[in-house]
Amino acid sequence: MNGKADEKAMDHRRLGRALGLFDTDPLMGAGLPYWLPDGAVVRHTLEEYIRDAERRAGYRHVYSPALGKRELYEISGHWDHYRDDMYPPMRLGAEEVVLRPSLCPHHALIYRSRSRSYRELPLRLAELGAMHRAELSGVLGGLTRVRAIHLNDAHVFCTLDQAVAEARAALELIARAYADLGIEAVRHRLSLPGAGGKYVADPELWRRATGLLREVLAEAGVAYEEAEGEAAFYGPKIDVQIADPASRESTLSTVQIDFHQPARFDLHYVGADGAKHRPVMVHRSVIGSVERAVAHLVEVHAGAFPAWLAPVQLVVLPVAEEQAEPAAALVREALALGLRAELAGPGEGTLGARIRAVRLVPYQAVIGAREAGAGLAAVRLRDGRRPGALPVGDLLRRVAGRVAARGTALWD
Ligand SMILES: [Zn+2]
Repeated sequence: MNGKADEKAMDHRRLGRALGLFDTDPLMGAGLPYWLPDGAVVRHTLEEYIRDAERRAGYRHVYSPALGKRELYEISGHWDHYRDDMYPPMRLGAEEVVLRPSLCPHHALIYRSRSRSYRELPLRLAELGAMHRAELSGVLGGLTRVRAIHLNDAHVFCTLDQAVAEARAALELIARAYADLGIEAVRHRLSLPGAGGKYVADPELWRRATGLLREVLAEAGVAYEEAEGEAAFYGPKIDVQIADPASRESTLSTVQIDFHQPARFDLHYVGADGAKHRPVMVHRSVIGSVERAVAHLVEVHAGAFPAWLAPVQLVVLPVAEEQAEPAAALVREALALGLRAELAGPGEGTLGARIRAVRLVPYQAVIGAREAGAGLAAVRLRDGRRPGALPVGDLLRRVAGRVAARGTALWD
């Protein structure tokens, strides 16, 4: 295959449709994809992975609404600096509400909903929540440019002394997730403000936040490049860059240190000295939006997801009708263990044709007369390896073990 054909085959829109993961309908609207059952499995598994990783890292999850009063975004600064990317407000009686362009203001309100002591810090609030961006229809396509975004977001409210360690821990969480998902960071970027009125004006705030992010990158030993004009309007950020098979770069994960929003929302905590202090907000996203993350996973794995993410993990293929019952029993046992397993029986074609049809399924178990008589299954891995005939109990233990471990290795 030449580069161009290769690139086309890897396009997540084509693959997404071919694999039955997601699609769009002009009547739902451009940039508003829907998820089919297999795509929903991948998305749900990814979301659970992230929530689990965050819980282990000391985050607490919240829910907040995808709508907010216009006033909320006037306070946060979104209305002044980000309005072009927001949907127009909806009038509701005397109020104006907008689809939120970010989760940060909601989390700031949750933080200040009660008085906070320094003993509670760092307070790590996480949410996988919807936000909206009024993308122009000309740039929409698949899952990478969408108008409704589901962001893996979190805000760490902490003291100034804790900010570098928290941002660094977030970078580590990102690195671990990339290893488990089989994706690669092509580079780290320190994104700084550019010219123009897009950014809040407070040189001291920018200088301090940028200095801390440089410290984070130095401590983590990560090489990085600086880019002007790529910062958030309220502060600089570390962007973790990925590349698609055509080497087009985009940002998946971000870590930011923010002095601006805590001031705008007048956040504080009571210190050990009994006085009020201003916390710092570390904004971070491990996998960015689930839309962009799944688009990238589809492309880099060409549909062959790591086993723990795969819509179907194990397919059982009886050679003939006579093996239908032991094959069905193996599927039932796999389902009872929490694995995603399916049967591909002789009614679906020759054994060769069935094996070709399930080539993206990580584990394939063939049961012929010899295997059925001995309680075995002939195991084939998606990558071409043939571990051979195994007792079905051993097979299930191996597969369940690999799936529970997450990561990208198919076999021990
Ligand atoms: Zn934020």
